[in-house]
Amino acid sequence: MSIELGGEACGVFGVFGSPSAAELTYFGLHALQHRGQESAGIVTSDGRVLHSRKGMGEIGDVFPRSEELGDLPGHMAIGHTRYSTTGASSVANIQPLIITFRGEQLAVGHNGNLTNSVSLKKFLEKGGAIFQTTSDSELFLHLVARSERQTWIDMICEALPQTEGAYSALFIHKDGIIVARDPQGFRPLALGTLGDAHVVASETCAFDIIGATYHRDVEPGEVLCIDADGVRSYGPHKETRPAFCIFEFIYFARPDSKIFGENTDKVRRRLGHQLAIEQPVEADMIISVPDSSNTAALGYSEQSGIRFEIGLIRNHYVGRTFIAPEQKIRDLDVRLKFNPVRGVLEGRRVCVVDDSIVRGTTSKKLVTMIYEAGAKEVHLRISSPPIISPCYYGIDMPTPDELIASSKQVEEIRSYLGVDSLGYLSLEGMLSMNSLPDTSFCTACFSGRYPTEIESRENGKMIFEVEPTESS
Ligand code: AMP
Repeated sequence: MSIELGGEACGVFGVFGSPSAAELTYFGLHALQHRGQESAGIVTSDGRVLHSRKGMGEIGDVFPRSEELGDLPGHMAIGHTRYSTTGASSVANIQPLIITFRGEQLAVGHNGNLTNSVSLKKFLEKGGAIFQTTSDSELFLHLVARSERQTWIDMICEALPQTEGAYSALFIHKDGIIVARDPQGFRPLALGTLGDAHVVASETCAFDIIGATYHRDVEPGEVLCIDADGVRSYGPHKETRPAFCIFEFIYFARPDSKIFGENTDKVRRRLGHQLAIEQPVEADMIISVPDSSNTAALGYSEQSGIRFEIGLIRNHYVGRTFIAPEQKIRDLDVRLKFNPVRGVLEGRRVCVVDDSIVRGTTSKKLVTMIYEAGAKEVHLRISSPPIISPCYYGIDMPTPDELIASSKQVEEIRSYLGVDSLGYLSLEGMLSMNSLPDTSFCTACFSGRYPTEIESRENGKMIFEVEPTESS
């Protein structure tokens, strides 16, 4: 039978050199909760053995109280918060994944998707490997275990170049942590300090919550060994052109984070400015779809001179609707999550700025709600280009036939959504809104141009021809 290969759109956090390692990781993961709400885990080392706690749900479900982390002793820790991009949402796939071999323990937490995982898994299984999960992150552990080298850092540096695709990965062993970012740097990864301790995180907002200082990004292709001897940098890869995920700026990262050397907030505001220039509107007000499009909507309002209003109220006690696996539930979630403010919208020409249209289901329901609340006209402006291709690098995207813009032109989408007008930002406009060269980014979801080879696509999914090993 064929099963989907699970990738990870996640948050990772690590710390070395603090007596409060588990607690810092707990708080760091809280700041990264937006990157995944499906499961969470922390692994610590007390210098002799690894300790772990993992579970399904949000950080608060798995770790209800910060003062009850006594089962996670030690001066170093890694943590992970996950949602599966294509694979099973199961207990077996909760990260960090831990193995014991040659009498030693190693754990890994990974954000990203490996794009040669199908052939790697086939190759490893031929050699006798037995997989315990359907997560591509397990491949790291098998590749490390095959290395004949003597130290963890050497084994990891031998394993990583055999993989392709996206990873910001943290490893922990009894004596330290090892941090790795893929050579194209698809996913963000930041390095900082807190007193004498070293910290790493998917986004800098995780440093703010614990009072850590951002030092620099982990470079694409860089591997850092952090232990009692300090921080050492390794470069086991051939130099490659970067492929930073532009969608992190559009939607995924928090606006208060600095990623790829830029403040997400600043980039998002500029996206809104540019959208107002490219796609002007005649309207009485600009509203956002909270929270993800707040900053771009402010930018649009600043540039257009049309006032910004709060027209939709978000219920913060419901998770991101997109993540719900069943279509039926997702539709219900939109109503659970957003409610229009009738007094603001009634009788007005409303311009809604959103960051992206994926399937179109959320947008359609929102638009209906806004009309039902009495809006005279609804205009939709999107601070990114049409999404035409799935992501194979760690952002949850549906298959091509579910992506509304993969088969419909803008006018058809406008008519499906039932809005008075619809305007998207151009690819060139989007890329010009940050200070890095255009060629530094992966734009595959908007352009269909993938920076690595993608194997075994079947209707937009990567497929394994094996029996599933986990009960999901
Ligand atoms: P829809 O109208 O169903 O296409 O949903 C679009 C909404 O989903 C936008 O408001 C985005 O903020 C949000 N969104 C975009 N990409 C993702 C993603 N990968 N995961 C969760 N939500 C997303």
